[in-house]
Amino acid sequence: MRMNKRGVLIVFSGPSGSGKGTVLGEYFKSHPEAAFSVSATTRAPRPGEVDGVNYHFVTRERFEEMIRQGEVLEYTRYNGNYYGSPAGPIRKELEAGRDVVLEIEVDGAMQVREKFPEAVLIFVLPPSFGELERRLIGRGTETREQIEGRLSTARRELSLAPRYDYLLLNDKVEEAAARLGEIIRAAKCAPARNETLLQEFLAE
Ligand code: ADP
Ligand code: 5GP
Repeated sequence: MRMNKRGVLIVFSGPSGSGKGTVLGEYFKSHPEAAFSVSATTRAPRPGEVDGVNYHFVTRERFEEMIRQGEVLEYTRYNGNYYGSPAGPIRKELEAGRDVVLEIEVDGAMQVREKFPEAVLIFVLPPSFGELERRLIGRGTETREQIEGRLSTARRELSLAPRYDYLLLNDKVEEAAARLGEIIRAAKCAPARNETLLQEFLAE
């Protein structure tokens, strides 16, 4: 089907441990044409994280300069560190017709909604709080204290889920990734994301 030439901006949020990274990894396997927006952060890299791949790891001074220069589409402070989405690469990819996925927390998602009303906001829901806790424990990357902190942050994040366009229940990874593909396909059919298509038809 002939569709809008611009890519769609997809915002993917959800509590830490809900499985955002896992579901996106599965999605990108079958959608290598989509782009993942690499965020900038002032937090230190975790073992195995690569600069420019997982994040652009920058100093606080550099991050604050990015804010002043309007180089970030949105940003927030989370656990004492800055996180933000570099605007330039996102605009470039969208113009080139590629869909761009931002994996960001709720405050940033609401900023994107203001600036890009046509963005698709998707919230990943774990099956239950008990399962969220089990996944965080199972991942083994946080201390017990950090897990408690993430679970209480999760309550606040979940209260903002109704502001999103779609909920994605992450029960089984493959099924969640397939549903994510269906959500994106359906979102691409909205008139607001196909203005050029309509204009071309009317101008004929
Ligand atoms: P997030 O990116 O949201 O913080 P991760 O993708 O790191 O979450 O997932 C958290 C943990 O839960 C990981 O250990 C991952 O393997 C596991 N996980 C993710 N999705 C599922 C699922 N559908 N069923 C069972 N375990 C899952
Ligand atoms: P982590 O430190 O675990 O990688 O990320 C912490 C939180 O920051 C996660 O909820 C993640 O989605 C969010 N995050 C990552 N990059 C960005 C970003 O560019 N902007 C915003 N607002 N949040 C981000």
